[in-house]
Amino acid sequence: VLGAGIGIPGPIDRRTGTVVQGAILPEWVGINILETFTERLQIPVFIDNDANLGALAQVTWGPHSAADNLIFVKVGSGIGAGLILNGGLFYGNVGITGELGHTTIDEHGLVCRCGNRGCLETVASTATMISLLERTSQGPLTATEIVQMALDGDTATLRVLDDAGLAIGRAVAHVANLINPELIVIGGSLTALGNILLDPIRRGLLRHAVPIVGETTKVTMGSLGDRAEALGGAAVVLSQPSLISS
Ligand SMILES: [Zn+2]
Repeated sequence: VLGAGIGIPGPIDRRTGTVVQGAILPEWVGINILETFTERLQIPVFIDNDANLGALAQVTWGPHSAADNLIFVKVGSGIGAGLILNGGLFYGNVGITGELGHTTIDEHGLVCRCGNRGCLETVASTATMISLLERTSQGPLTATEIVQMALDGDTATLRVLDDAGLAIGRAVAHVANLINPELIVIGGSLTALGNILLDPIRRGLLRHAVPIVGETTKVTMGSLGDRAEALGGAAVVLSQPSLISS
């Protein structure tokens, strides 16, 4: 074992390896994952945001190794993005990048866990889809059931997914305008939906991006399934030159 790569579904301050406010696991905020796991495992530990690891997996193990500029969007109970710029992960100043889920979509919308209102997550996360569809369902729903209901042609489910896809496309259009990626890869628990979710995302992108950016940016589903983030964790470890040479 060369080392351990750990993905956390929340923002991580890279200066300290600490989970910061805004994580979907509020009880993890302030915990120094890096120190804790290094002490327990006694091997080199690398920690990153799960969407960053998903993005890294796409260019390391996935079919997109030739892409230099790529946005990976993880759509689950939260929404996050990992940015590959000029062939590598982009970390910004302190490591908090790709907070796509907190793009404002409706400023009078629902209150978000980040404290703002009408963020993308309040419109397009699987948690939001579930609460919308549970209003008329017989019992509690899961993301897997939403996928099945959509594939079965359930009208309400398709409508909710269409609204969510349009909002994701709109949010991603702003990022695409800034960085002009080759590719937007959608990951998370809804990838089995294929074009049911991709079509509204493409419409949202085309509607809100600069025309040539919208027209030349490919939008596709990730092919690594729910292993993407774990494969990204392995890629982080294997990308450390000091570990490979020794
Ligand atoms: Zn928010």
